[in-house]
Amino acid sequence: MDCRGWIAIATPMTHMPQRTALSHAFGALAAALVGIAHYYDHATTVTLVERVALALEVVLGSLTVTGSLLAFAKLQGWVHGTPVAYPGQNAVSLVLAAVILVLAGWFIADPAATWAFYGMAALAFLFGITLVMPIGAADMPVVIALLNSYAGLAGSATGFALDNNILIIAGALDGASGLILAVLMSKAMNRPLLNVVFGRIEASTAASADDVYAGKVRSTTAEEFALLLEDARRVVIVPGYGMAVSQAQHAVRDLYLALEKRGATVEFAIHPVAGRMPGHMNVLLAEADIPYERMIEMDTINPTFETVDVAIVIGANDVVNSNARASDSPIAGMPILDVDKARMVIVVKRSMSPGFAGIPNPLFAAENTLMYFADAQAGILDVVREVKAL
Ligand code: NDP
Repeated sequence: MDCRGWIAIATPMTHMPQRTALSHAFGALAAALVGIAHYYDHATTVTLVERVALALEVVLGSLTVTGSLLAFAKLQGWVHGTPVAYPGQNAVSLVLAAVILVLAGWFIADPAATWAFYGMAALAFLFGITLVMPIGAADMPVVIALLNSYAGLAGSATGFALDNNILIIAGALDGASGLILAVLMSKAMNRPLLNVVFGRIEASTAASADDVYAGKVRSTTAEEFALLLEDARRVVIVPGYGMAVSQAQHAVRDLYLALEKRGATVEFAIHPVAGRMPGHMNVLLAEADIPYERMIEMDTINPTFETVDVAIVIGANDVVNSNARASDSPIAGMPILDVDKARMVIVVKRSMSPGFAGIPNPLFAAENTLMYFADAQAGILDVVREVKAL
């Protein structure tokens, strides 16, 4: 098995986005270097079609390399994941994009203008950083899908430059599927795609954790948790990233079976960006033999939360953050699961630390919420034992 196989085996599912970002970076680096080498070898003889393809390949490839490496560093926690904004940022990005376009046009018109070609490549590397720097928090899944699309298009342009049909077709398929995924994800996140593409930052403020939580958070124990479930008729479980980290899906299945045995109806509410990759929760729950019809999509389950006796949030945070309803919130407009409308909410997590978006969650301080501080797997297994002993 080559090193790609080992990387695939060694990467946990929770690290898939950064693994994907690294793949995009290397694929795009190959496209950019092939383009630069092709120009270096054939500087004066490249045809017009080749020059257009080379410009596209080198610009898209170069910006995808640095953009993907920065996305990797953000997702890996090496760089803070929150969006970075500075005054005049959009103007800087627009000027940079305009200069790259002018240099590309110059190079296409005059292939002997080596300074235009290499200047265009250097600025495109810089542009990748300015493009991804202002994007962060809950928008990261969309930017990963977009970088996938850019890497594919760079590959397709490489095919045109090298007259290689397989590269043209494979790159076009990759570029189109990345774009479709980006459009679907930005729709699911209620974000105009252009805002994500240009990293447009809305003025936003996040209250401090002290303001949101001080004196309002109530915790519970496994015994009390089980007692609260004793008479529950409708229970909704909301899985999130923490369930994946703790590999709690089998414990969650045990809880589901124990509750159903007591006559409760148990459903799973699935948010489109819960976890760290599209479909992450569906995959984990299916692995634990949860019937597919029990996994209910956000738009279907949201109008029904008022009839839920107990909503159990397991290692989810951003996807149930009621702060998204505030117009000045950093995650304003992001659709959430309306768990706070359930009669009782129990949140399973280890501490009050924030989720991926890095902001406090008013749900944890709500009057109908209890916090059950535990590792998801160990904590749920304790609750299952208590439920069985009822
Ligand atoms: P979040 O990242 O918002 O929150 C996860 C929570 O899990 C944390 O608050 C953490 O709290 C808790 N947790 C971590 N480990 C454990 C454990 N062992 N046991 C119990 N709890 C644990 O997750 P969500 O699923 O709610 O939201 C996903 C976020 O990731 C969104 O912002 C989304 O945009 C982003 N994202 C999604 C991608 C996708 O494609 N789905 C890709 C990239 C980013 P504590 O430490 O206190 O336990």
